Amino acid sequence: MKRRNFITRTSLNTLALGLGINSLANANFKQNQLKLKPSEKLASGPVAICTWEFTKANATAGALLDQGLPALDAVIKGVAVEEENIKNTTVGKGGSPDREGNVTLDACVMDHTGNCGSVMAVESITNVAALARKVMEDTPHVILVGKGAEEFAVESGFTAENLLTPETEKLWKEWLKTSDYKPVINIENHDTIGMLGLDKDGNISGACTTSGLAYKMKGRVGDSPVIGSGLFIDNTIGGAAATGMGEEVIKTVGSFLIVELMRNGMSPQEACEEAVNRIVSTNPNHTNFQVAYIAINKQGETGCYCIHPGFKMMKYSNGENNPVVAGSHLK
Ligand code: ASP
Repeated sequence: MKRRNFITRTSLNTLALGLGINSLANANFKQNQLKLKPSEKLASGPVAICTWEFTKANATAGALLDQGLPALDAVIKGVAVEEENIKNTTVGKGGSPDREGNVTLDACVMDHTGNCGSVMAVESITNVAALARKVMEDTPHVILVGKGAEEFAVESGFTAENLLTPETEKLWKEWLKTSDYKPVINIENHDTIGMLGLDKDGNISGACTTSGLAYKMKGRVGDSPVIGSGLFIDNTIGGAAATGMGEEVIKTVGSFLIVELMRNGMSPQEACEEAVNRIVSTNPNHTNFQVAYIAINKQGETGCYCIHPGFKMMKYSNGENNPVVAGSHLK
């Protein structure tokens, strides 16, 4: 039976019987949802922040939040601007391929109820953040990878297309001449887009989408689609997102760490700084890679911090969309 048929024909009850533990988890999750307190009154208006200087993407999300759209809708539409921008070689269509010439995309989303979805190593779909949302909403799972994610996408109405553009193919062929694998993630390179939105109802959601490190090994997945690493939201506290060397973010579960630090009383700025400190204090090699974080709390306060100078966050609030230069561990 095709996956979609399986999903649509299976009633929730049958699913519950078949999935045992998962059904229990779902039931608990639903109960927790019911127990969620009504949102606090917003201290600020809606806020959108994103990694790097993705001006148009952040302005798109900010304007949608101002119109009253829920944060999840706004951030997915915001990051789609970069997924569809073929000039951006680090996100979506036109992203740099792995060392064998395959463009493989990773993305995840997380909403204000604590629900989340993720796709990894997707080779033929541009809007992978929207696809991650489909996984979250239309399947009993959190993560789909590779061919399974692509088949699910097509069954769900996404168009399969070739993500390798003539430009990125040319760059890859140039790279093949030396095949020198030195990941450079810094100022001159716009990387992963992680976006966090606080909507008019005071709810926070986020999306994170990337083509990962250029010329990575086939099958490599970074932090961006890993819930807790590339992105984490707890609507009672705030949210965080990461960019840079995914392996280092995963080792310290960076975004989850930031939200937990905020839970323990830190501001978004202090929490981002502490999460960067956690990496640099344990890894003497940190002078060779970049990691940058952004964060927002329930009051609409934001923060950002990175290892190397050169990282900027975009911030939309009160109808204005401005770059914020992040402080850095190395000066
Ligand atoms: N974090 C991404 C990854 O490791 C890369 C990036 O942000 O540039 O895949």
